[in-house]
Amino acid sequence: TRREDLAAFERRIREDQNPLRDTDIFQRIGNYQRANAMRLGGIYGLYPEFNCAQDSVITFSDNRERVLLGTNSYLGLADDPRVREAAKAAIDRYGSGCSGSPLLNGTLDIHNRLEAELADFLGRDAVALCSTGYQTNLTALSALCGPGDVVLMDARNHRSLYDGVRLSGADCLIYRHADLGHLAKLLLRSSGRRRMIVTDSVFSMEGTIADLRGIAALAREHGARLFVDESHAVGVLGATGRGVAELQGVEADVDLVMGTFSKSFAALGGYVAGCRTVIDYLKHNGGGHIFSASLPPSVIATVLAALDIVRREPERRALVLDNAAYMAGELRAIGYDAPFHGAQIVPVILGNYTLALSAYKRFMEAGVYVNPVGPPAVPEAAAGFRTSYIATHRRADLDRALDVFRRHFPDIRR
Ligand code: PMP
Repeated sequence: TRREDLAAFERRIREDQNPLRDTDIFQRIGNYQRANAMRLGGIYGLYPEFNCAQDSVITFSDNRERVLLGTNSYLGLADDPRVREAAKAAIDRYGSGCSGSPLLNGTLDIHNRLEAELADFLGRDAVALCSTGYQTNLTALSALCGPGDVVLMDARNHRSLYDGVRLSGADCLIYRHADLGHLAKLLLRSSGRRRMIVTDSVFSMEGTIADLRGIAALAREHGARLFVDESHAVGVLGATGRGVAELQGVEADVDLVMGTFSKSFAALGGYVAGCRTVIDYLKHNGGGHIFSASLPPSVIATVLAALDIVRREPERRALVLDNAAYMAGELRAIGYDAPFHGAQIVPVILGNYTLALSAYKRFMEAGVYVNPVGPPAVPEAAAGFRTSYIATHRRADLDRALDVFRRHFPDIRR
């Protein structure tokens, strides 16, 4: 039976035999398992279990407290009582979910309110919501671009942007990370074709910030459209928290901006904002918008409450960046390769993923949670820790974490 077949498959992998037919589509799983077992040995520690809201210092499932340097709840709102209460009230009023697409039965008054408030916040005509940021990128790029078109992408763009381009069938031209000279060459080479430049604004692993001003100038010069993923920047950067395009004063040159609710807004979901005609097109042609159920009311209420706090409490943004700058400076003083690029994400580059994973486990033991990162998220040479800072980290929490970094420096230095 199939069940016995699968049991045999698992047994063979455990026993490290090489039993799988070339024609078995599961062969790659067996190869992956074996390679991983060899590499990770006894150090596997991914999928750590949390059992509470994400904040600066939390107690994990093993009842041990750790300083959390690896959450994207940048403004510290995942545990904010106002946000929690808004979510609960929405469940009481609207129930648990919408059970349908926004196009049909899935649009509540609060979905429309959130779209309108976000459009107002971002200074855009209109907004379309999707169930995740990942899905937003798939939906927008696959609806906007098609075979024969050209999408120009920064090499370090988020996976969801790559997957969106692949789904669209457009040709993908990749320029070296932040290399506008290379982008200009690719624009020249593809002149005469329909083109869109797509870039992250804050790069999720490196914490680098795109030169949107330079990119926008090239887009204008070559007649290309510009799509910017502000997932990590919205709520954190720019005078009012609209992101890097606001920070660099180039919002008018960005045709479409997208973002996520899973970071500063402490919930789940994504949005794309732009002029009314384009957003209307996406709301009637975007697969991930039309063919997927809309966000549940508790999530919409969470985001509305978080957006209100983003607007009313600008001091949170300053705290996030102060914390990141402080940590990057202190880490570098210890001797770590920890560049600060002006955003809340500070990579601690160790240059070896296996070392990053084993060090991560030792840090967990010592009371500090960081994100270990390596291929495919970053190249092996950039493997290490991805640390990120939030508005509710207190200096004492950060100093506690620094003690651990200091103690472990001799055994994990690059
Ligand atoms: N874009 C970027 C730059 C991201 O970092 C992420 C999430 N890591 C996403 C999109 C996807 O967002 P979501 O978590 O909402 O799917």
